[in-house]
Amino acid sequence: MKVSFYGHVRQYHNIKAEIDANIQKVLESGEYVQGPMLKQFEAELAAFSGTKFAIGVGNGTDAIWLTLMALGIGPGDEVITHPNTFFATAEAIWIAGATAVFVDCCPKTKCIDPAKIEAAITPKTKAIIPVHLYGQCADMRAIKKIADKHNLRLVEDNAQAIGGKGPDFNIGELSDAATTSFIIQKNLGTFGDGGAVVTNNADIDAKVRKLRNHGSNQRNVHSFGFNSRLDDLHAGILSAKLKHIHAWNDQRRQWAARYTAGLKGAKNLTLPYETPGYRHVFHLYVIETKKPEQRDPLLKFLVDNGIDAKTHYSIAIHQQAGYPWGKGARIVGSVANAEQNAATCISLPMFPELTAEEVDYVIAKVLEWDKAQK
Ligand SMILES: *Cc1c(COP(=O)(O)O)cnc(C)c1O
Repeated sequence: MKVSFYGHVRQYHNIKAEIDANIQKVLESGEYVQGPMLKQFEAELAAFSGTKFAIGVGNGTDAIWLTLMALGIGPGDEVITHPNTFFATAEAIWIAGATAVFVDCCPKTKCIDPAKIEAAITPKTKAIIPVHLYGQCADMRAIKKIADKHNLRLVEDNAQAIGGKGPDFNIGELSDAATTSFIIQKNLGTFGDGGAVVTNNADIDAKVRKLRNHGSNQRNVHSFGFNSRLDDLHAGILSAKLKHIHAWNDQRRQWAARYTAGLKGAKNLTLPYETPGYRHVFHLYVIETKKPEQRDPLLKFLVDNGIDAKTHYSIAIHQQAGYPWGKGARIVGSVANAEQNAATCISLPMFPELTAEEVDYVIAKVLEWDKAQK
């Protein structure tokens, strides 16, 4: 049996009529850039997020650095995050011209450990970027307390957890802004690239809106800016898909529960941790081998058996060859949890359109490997 990692084409077929209708609507409208479909989607995304504003941009990386720039963060400033995230979280800090400061993640959730943040704060620190890694919110209440105490800005990297929430907070509620990515493989993905910023702050909204469009909100009048827009075609596709995101996330949660029930007896694995009361939306279902030397053999065993398992992320940011040691980045304290995660993680196939047969086949193969270990 073959089990793929993504279900993009299955998903398209399931809601083809809705997507095709929106694409056609945009094509017939004659307005393709910053047109009515983008406006419509921005309004829908703001309503979905419970924020006053949503601004479509070119991708999830731009969403982060455009927000940092709108907050006036740049050269000479420091931004705290953690190193076991997609490279783009740090890249965005560097594009803004700031220094990335890394602290460790929680051993269970893999999100930034609030207890490690204060040791990294200096007079240059301007912001914290928690990442809602794998689909689960970071401990925003604890992080917000630290940010308030030290007068720091808070930008949530929500590329992986759209539709997720904390026990008593929504994403975007406790921060200055939350950013997201609409690249196809994310929980809400278009057929290409896209991103957005959601915020309750009118100043951030106005600034990002200008920055994304050559510093202009009025014809022929410009200030310093860029070209990072969300096309109306993508906005139309996303508008059709947004209506399904809660149901799709529910389905992801069901597959995650099935994986966890099936794998809970495995002696050589640690299974994903869901913080009680949080809505984890399982962008990824990430298991860890107990020993680092077990990871690559298990990955190979799964791939050899037709299962398209992957790693997120097997090289932590500070372990990358291109990491700008001393110039754009530093580490505070031990980042052993992040390094352990990089050395042991495996992402099993996870998308709403999986079948029970596929999930059970993956479980059976993982258990077969587990039993063969001494
Ligand atoms: C995908 C992702 C990004 C970047 O999004 P792009 O749209 O690819 O630029 C940033 N941060 C995290 C955590 C991501 O998963």
